[in-house]
Amino acid sequence: MLKKTNFSLFLFLLLIINLFLPLVAQAALWINPLVVKQGEIVLIKGLYYNFGNAYSMLADCQISFQGKNYLFAREIVDFQGFESSGGTYGFQYTTRIPTTPLTKLGDLPLTLKCPLGEEKFNLKVLSGNFPVQNIVLTSSKNSLSATEKETNAVKNAINTFTPFKLWDSTKPWLAPNKARLSSLYGLRRTYNGVLAQNYFHKGLDFAAFTGNPITSPAKGKVILLGKEKEGFAVHGNCLLIDHGQGVISGYLHLSEFNVAEGEMVEPGQVLGKVGESGIATGPHLHFGVYVNGENVNPDNWLKFAIP
Ligand SMILES: [Zn+2]
Repeated sequence: MLKKTNFSLFLFLLLIINLFLPLVAQAALWINPLVVKQGEIVLIKGLYYNFGNAYSMLADCQISFQGKNYLFAREIVDFQGFESSGGTYGFQYTTRIPTTPLTKLGDLPLTLKCPLGEEKFNLKVLSGNFPVQNIVLTSSKNSLSATEKETNAVKNAINTFTPFKLWDSTKPWLAPNKARLSSLYGLRRTYNGVLAQNYFHKGLDFAAFTGNPITSPAKGKVILLGKEKEGFAVHGNCLLIDHGQGVISGYLHLSEFNVAEGEMVEPGQVLGKVGESGIATGPHLHFGVYVNGENVNPDNWLKFAIP
């Protein structure tokens, strides 16, 4: 009796594997690109990965890169391979690996870790050639530092992971403001000639006047609305928006809010107004994009359709 049950289970598994075999052959693991500039992301997707004659489902796997682990999110897609058979919808697993100006240069291993085994891939990281600004400290500057409440709230928000992608991958994001850029992503600093090891400018600065509208670049949900008077000393009045699958956008130094925490926002919707709250040398919008908790280059998201 037991033998019979096992046998039918085996047949069932065999049928399932046969059913998915065309997909396995097509999309074992898709890594793009394999050469990145600091600040860019690597997209990894697939459904299964084969180890010998067996397959691990990517839902049970993770990618390890530079000491951090990244999980795969299940995504509903229209598989091209299925299109000929009537456009049946399938699903795949996706993860996005962020790099920043602090990511080491050269050949770095991306490791796929699955219950059935491990496989290493090579990722080549090129310099983003970010400029360096020298700051000469003349006197002891009395600077404000982030409150614990602010640090924790921002850290939690940028590490939010919701499984569904809300942005449209067929076009670039809309610019959140129309003003010219006054500071780019990735700028490094030296203080009296010594490189600040962990510092880089984490977003794009738009040189707009106080009261200028800030609009949402893509669909998402407001997950944090921080107020200067409630302890957001560095970021000032700020908003963080979750676009799904570990992608968050941030807006700092606002003078006014036009949305509420928990609200869903559409591309082009007014989020708030430019200001100079928190640590800012004048009115401007600081716009940042986080992928799985790391500050990536927002410029890429405004120029290219990101899958
Ligand atoms: Zn900035």
